[in-house]
Amino acid sequence: MEFKDITPNFYQDSNQKPFCECTFCGKNLQESNEPYLIEKSFKRNRQSKQLLTVIEYAICLECTIKKTQAISEESRQNIEKYMRENVLNSEGNLPRRNFVEKLEFCAATGKNVEDLDEFNLVGQFIGDKMLLSEFPVIMSNEISEEIQGLLSEKTKEEFDKFMDTITGVPPELKELFKTKRPVLI
Ligand SMILES: [Zn+2]
Repeated sequence: MEFKDITPNFYQDSNQKPFCECTFCGKNLQESNEPYLIEKSFKRNRQSKQLLTVIEYAICLECTIKKTQAISEESRQNIEKYMRENVLNSEGNLPRRNFVEKLEFCAATGKNVEDLDEFNLVGQFIGDKMLLSEFPVIMSNEISEEIQGLLSEKTKEEFDKFMDTITGVPPELKELFKTKRPVLI
């Protein structure tokens, strides 16, 4: 397993520093050996071409497991199948791609990030290091929406219930999660 310093595109908007805490349970991520994931969702201003962060969060392994449990078996299988066929083994995500390239192209469509109006960025980390595995990965918004479409109604309800049980997440983020569920991870 290869490690790198965390790249600035994964920094928290508010202070331009790496995430210190799990957004969901508040656990200190820098001091634990538990792997965690960061997802950032960006929207590009059509005129200025500048990127605006729509959602950003870090999630520890424990919370990821809890969140995964909210997803029904059927939805999970659908997502895994979709990821296997369209993302993880697709043209855009060939092993020869180094991590710098992986941060420039959508893993599923191969489109350059500069040409995407909306996309998600997901990475895996331990402490202050970024893991190079199938992550980091960039996904165009169209792919995220397709994945959302694979969720059963039951899963959507379970997922919203899961969000309601969480106390540390700011309300506006919670509402966002209900319309744009973080299903990738
Ligand atoms: Zn957590």
